Amino acid sequence: MVRYVCRHCGRRMGHFDGDWRDPMLGLTNLRQEEQEELVTLDDRGTTATVKILCDHCLPVPWDDNLWYN
Ligand SMILES: [Zn+2]
Repeated sequence: MVRYVCRHCGRRMGHFDGDWRDPMLGLTNLRQEEQEELVTLDDRGTTATVKILCDHCLPVPWDDNLWYN
């Protein structure tokens, strides 16, 4: 499972009921340091928290499709 949380205000943005390594999400395509900065895994490594920016904190409109589809 993947949870999306705003890295600035902590607002919960949504979740994805699948593996965080799902190629659709593109998280495994990030460089190592980007992945470590954006993705936090729980102890079991099954739930990933992804820190992104919400509409309020983002200076430009966020493309939801990038993360949810
Ligand atoms: Zn925010």
